[in-house]
Amino acid sequence: MNRRKKIVAGNWKMNLNSQQVLKLMQALNRSEQEFDCDVIVFPPFVYLVDVIDFANGGGRISVGAQNCAATENGAYTGEVSAAQLADIGVEYVLIGHSERRIYYNENHSFIADKLKCSLANNLRPVFCCGEPQIVREAGEQLTYVKQQLVESLFTLKTEEIGQVIVAYEPVWAIGTGLNASAEQAQEMHTFIRHQIAEHYSLAIANEIQILYGGSCKPGNAAELFACHDVDGGLIGGASLIAEDFLNIISLAH
Ligand code: PEP
Repeated sequence: MNRRKKIVAGNWKMNLNSQQVLKLMQALNRSEQEFDCDVIVFPPFVYLVDVIDFANGGGRISVGAQNCAATENGAYTGEVSAAQLADIGVEYVLIGHSERRIYYNENHSFIADKLKCSLANNLRPVFCCGEPQIVREAGEQLTYVKQQLVESLFTLKTEEIGQVIVAYEPVWAIGTGLNASAEQAQEMHTFIRHQIAEHYSLAIANEIQILYGGSCKPGNAAELFACHDVDGGLIGGASLIAEDFLNIISLAH
């Protein structure tokens, strides 16, 4: 048994309108279910203030942003800085999600800059990594993820790394209904932990929470969360449905 607390985090992506956000947060707040894990939701920017208000009302859900700027402030039209997010009460931020890497060409050094900005503003980054299907088919997934770690995550100092949560999200599993098996998840999570131990220390590696993401649902979460190095899940589609999200939360302890 490890000492790491499990986390279930919901990435709402660019979904929901204000009414749907209200309904979802009401359902999560009203539930009398005990939460044995930390629960975080990542709404679109425009609903962050409302969701923080709802979350404060319920008192047991934390709120994160799906992205932040790679620079501190200034003339960057359309960007939202880590300082601004922290200012309104955001606590976490997703960094390096594969959708941003793929659709917005975010590269390793840009992602490293975002990690630094978030940490400088006391936001806890959830650093996402994971291989595309073609890489998995070639059996190169460990090398691929190692490069993502080395070129972004491992630019952080020893005193910074402990604030980071890692999410392993194989690209072929995101939104496809095809989750990684428990064996595939455990293999990658233990690999990531070993890399962190080699680069920083065993003590740091043993503390860091590593989430699994990619078609995680009520039907497969228990098996995935039972893996020794899987410390919970980053949930996309299933986090939009209160019943499914609560179900997944109930499996994380
Ligand atoms: C995600 O995009 O972070 C994700 C895990 O999505 P889904 O659960 O829908 O595969």
